[in-house]
Parts: sequence; C-alpha cells; structure tokens
Amino acid sequence: MRHTDNRYAGEQAKFDLAVRLIAHEARTHIIARCTGFSQDRIRKLYGTYFRNGEAGKVRRQRGKSPSSVGFFMRNAQVQTEASTLASLFALFGLIRIDRTLHIRLLGDTCGPEFGQRLCRAYEVYLSLHPRRRVSFEHAWSLLLALTERGELLLADCGRCGNIYVHDVLAMDRGSCPPCRRRLRAGTPPKDIQ
Ligand SMILES: [Zn+2]
Repeated sequence: MRHTDNRYAGEQAKFDLAVRLIAHEARTHIIARCTGFSQDRIRKLYGTYFRNGEAGKVRRQRGKSPSSVGFFMRNAQVQTEASTLASLFALFGLIRIDRTLHIRLLGDTCGPEFGQRLCRAYEVYLSLHPRRRVSFEHAWSLLLALTERGELLLADCGRCGNIYVHDVLAMDRGSCPPCRRRLRAGTPPKDIQ
C-alpha cells in the first residue's frame, strides 16, 4: 500500500513539474528529460491545460533550444540578468562555484529534482527581474554554457566585487556590466559590497 502511495505521489510530482515547465514555455525535450514523460503525453498535457484559458499566454516552443552564448553578451542588461541566474543556479544547488570561480555541475541535468531546482531558480529570477530578458529556454542554455559546454565563465568585478558571466572567447575588461555603465557615464563605482 505504502509503495503504491509513494508511486502515486511520485507521478503527481512529475505531473506538477510538467505543468510548471509548460507554463515556463520549456520545450518538449526538456520536459521529457525532467519528467520521463513521453512526447505524446506532454503534447496532450499542453492541449488539456494550456490551449485555452489561462494559457492563452503560454506559447509552445518548437525546435531546438537556443544555444548561442552571444545572446548573453548582447547588452549589459542581459549580461546582468544572466549573472543573477548563475548565482541562483548555485543557490538552488544546480552548480557549485569554488573560490577561483570554477563551476562544477552538481548531479545530472535530468530528472524531477533537477527540474524542480531549475524551476525554483528561474522563478526567483522572474521575481527579481519581472521584465525578464532571459527566457526559461535561455536559462537552460546558460546552465549548459557555464558547465557542460564551457563557453561562459564567471569573473569578479575589479571595481565592486560582484560576480558576472563572461564569454570565454571575449576579452574581459575586468568590470561587471553596471560598473562599465557607470564608468562610461563618468560616475564613481557604487559601494555595493
Ligand atoms: Zn562591478
């Protein structure tokens, strides 16, 4: 009986996670990776819960997830928001950042626990940046670019000490986006730390 109850609770948790991921407009392959549900089941869930009503606002993303790191460097605001997300990935146990700012992925990028941590990190990001520039799909891509793909790294700002994401192949100017902005405007660095 207990085994059946646990199994039911596990299925319910995966179902709730799938609905949560659909609401964030995650692509089917990510939902399948986190829940183990088939693509057909996810399509049906999408049709049942999101085609009408509340979900008028939810768009189903198709095709491959975005992977260009250029997106995160396109302007100071996006780079700042990506940096916030990187910190939240660490806060919610998706990655570990050591003293030298080296990043290590904690666990696999699949399964319900991973999916829930990613959702929590993204939802806190949304509460901090309501006009979000980084979609859930881009957040997923950011996590992979910082870990598995090694295309982005973390640097610490020589002016304010904050940590920011940086393109491995681009020249690092040693300052975070807000400090660079202040530098251009001729204002002194903000004493954040
Ligand atoms: Zn700075």
